[in-house]
Amino acid sequence: RFTDASPCDNGEVCTADGTRILLSINVNDPAELASVEPVTTAGIGLMRSEFAVSSVADAASEEKQIDIYHHVLKWAAGKPVIVRMLDIGGDKPLAGLGLPPAGPATDLRGIRLLLAHPEIARVQTRALLRAAVHGDLRVMLPMVTFPSEINEMRSIFHEEAVRLAKRGMPHLIPPIGMMVEVPAAALMLDTFETADFFSFGTNDLTQHLAASSRDGANSTIFDSATIPALFRFLEGAMQLAAKRGKPVSICGNIAGDPQWLPGLLAIGLRHFSVAPVQLPAIRSAIVGLRADGTKAAGE
Ligand code: PEP
Ligand code: MG
Repeated sequence: RFTDASPCDNGEVCTADGTRILLSINVNDPAELASVEPVTTAGIGLMRSEFAVSSVADAASEEKQIDIYHHVLKWAAGKPVIVRMLDIGGDKPLAGLGLPPAGPATDLRGIRLLLAHPEIARVQTRALLRAAVHGDLRVMLPMVTFPSEINEMRSIFHEEAVRLAKRGMPHLIPPIGMMVEVPAAALMLDTFETADFFSFGTNDLTQHLAASSRDGANSTIFDSATIPALFRFLEGAMQLAAKRGKPVSICGNIAGDPQWLPGLLAIGLRHFSVAPVQLPAIRSAIVGLRADGTKAAGE
């Protein structure tokens, strides 16, 4: 489990003063896993399931989705795998769904779109419930704004579990956590009692904080000038998360960039999920720092 107090190995890395840090990976195309040894990670901290579903027909195929989750759980060999439910909308279109033109601040994206299109959400829910029998699968909800959205999705999981039980199909209800990537949710994080875990999506959080599209020609969000505001914001959200005592991680791009690691350690982050190519650099940066983010002697 992500929270076990086990020795500092198996994908865990320790700071110079001995604090365990979890280092897991973000997965887009599951084919990327062929070049990563699970033992070098703490598991999958973010599987972007929308990369495996490129059309409405894919979204309607429970079996196709189960096959993909099986493949990923097999790779993980018992380590946790956080599958994020489909984050469709805005800059992430789905062919055939007839969504409005892409825009970062579109209303219908992530969990909102899933709840507005239960025919899509229920297929993925059944695939996740069935796949959960085969490993340590956890589900993460994208672009959550209100606690009620988690509760509504939880009800869908319970309803679909009852349907699977009637059909005699093995299934398990997995832990359900949320991306923290909408500023309104981050400001109210202590009210999300029904989320099992939190993961900061700083890509979206930053673009919504800075009113600047992550993909736009004028994307000031990747300008380090915006980062102090993001850090101040994250620090507040970390304090709210601590009140709830829930597992917290960070999976946005800044988690994999060593230049921001001291600041992220300093505000208390201990679980980083990064692109596979970023693993070696982040690992060596962690061992050269103390848990408060300061440089270790001799570094
Ligand atoms: C994020 O928003 O930081 C995130 C990890 O999700 P995505 O990049 O898929 O929007
Ligand atoms: Mg996001």
